[in-house]
Amino acid sequence: MTAAGERIKALIASQGPITIAQFMTIALLDPAGGYYATRDPFGAAGDFITAPEVSQMFGELVGLWLAQAWIEQGRPARPLLVELGPGRGTLMADALRALKLLPLLRDSLDVVLVEASPALKQVQQKTLADCGVNPRWADSLDGVPSDRPLFLVANEFFDALPIHQYVRTERGWCERMIARDANGALAFAPAPAPYPDGNVPANRDGAPPGGVYETSPAGEALAEEIGHRIAGHGGAALIVDYGYDAPGFGETLQAVKSHSFAGVLDDPGAGDLSAHVDFRALGDSAARGGASVCGPVAQGDFLVALGIVQRAEKLAQSHWTGGRATMPTLADRPELMEQLDRLIKPEQMGTLFRALAIVPKNAPTPAGF
Ligand code: SAH
Repeated sequence: MTAAGERIKALIASQGPITIAQFMTIALLDPAGGYYATRDPFGAAGDFITAPEVSQMFGELVGLWLAQAWIEQGRPARPLLVELGPGRGTLMADALRALKLLPLLRDSLDVVLVEASPALKQVQQKTLADCGVNPRWADSLDGVPSDRPLFLVANEFFDALPIHQYVRTERGWCERMIARDANGALAFAPAPAPYPDGNVPANRDGAPPGGVYETSPAGEALAEEIGHRIAGHGGAALIVDYGYDAPGFGETLQAVKSHSFAGVLDDPGAGDLSAHVDFRALGDSAARGGASVCGPVAQGDFLVALGIVQRAEKLAQSHWTGGRATMPTLADRPELMEQLDRLIKPEQMGTLFRALAIVPKNAPTPAGF
């Protein structure tokens, strides 16, 4: 049994069944055995690969998107550039390199990385050691100043936040808990008492028996806070993740280890856990905070609108020394073509991943939306 698994079993022994949110928090972030807290899971050799790890183009375009929003809002003074869950720090490094095009912005920025994992914070420090700015770290958004224009990006962050599940039983909607079965193994079990009305959606009567409904109060609270800050002090947020436009009845909590699906309750802490992001709920929450919400749009459409194809063509030419009769094109650089396809093709990351923008109510519609 993993260290996180032992913690979870001990908690159930002392307090009874725990929520899926508690389970996720321990499995992902427990200092002793949590998945993110103890390792660097990204890349071909790791458990999964994310858009910034696929290609430098992703972070570059995100950086320029944020810069354009800053310009459109009249170049506000003392902007904050914040990333939630920066992983290896690759996106931020690529964004800051692209921002060299705008020294006025780059020199006035304060960069804050919001990271809960000490192991990944170290990786980020290394990645950003030569980036030319002096980033700071915070454990949560609470540690980021709230009185300045906020330019924020979160890629594959919201899918890692804890969720709750409710299951439709004969007794009503009951929270799905994690208990121990007769053999001592971890097992899902509905809570004995139904959840109070109002915590499951209005169309709940259409759900089949056994139907599961998921929510992420942590994600919604965060989106509302981001909306509130942007409404009050300006800025723009870009949330990119995999997910759906509106909640349905079905569970999406999944475990991934070495690029394959694994059992959610097997070996807590040894694999990644994530759930599809409910973009409707995030958007509604940001709007409740007072901001305007654009999207979600498909990642592929978004990146193409921002000029990723032209950027790939430029990169294809970047090592050209003039030694050939004609300039190289994308067709001469199959690895670049592969990265591009991976990010934008519908059968790859192009449509499952979506982008949502949060801007002040009076701001122009941001690029790509
Ligand atoms: N954005 C990166 C990494 C995505 S993985 C990329 O695209 O490659 C999720 C990241 O969020 C990791 O850095 C993880 O440690 C961090 N994280 C997960 N839950 C968190 C929480 N509650 N608070 C802060 N960071 C968290």
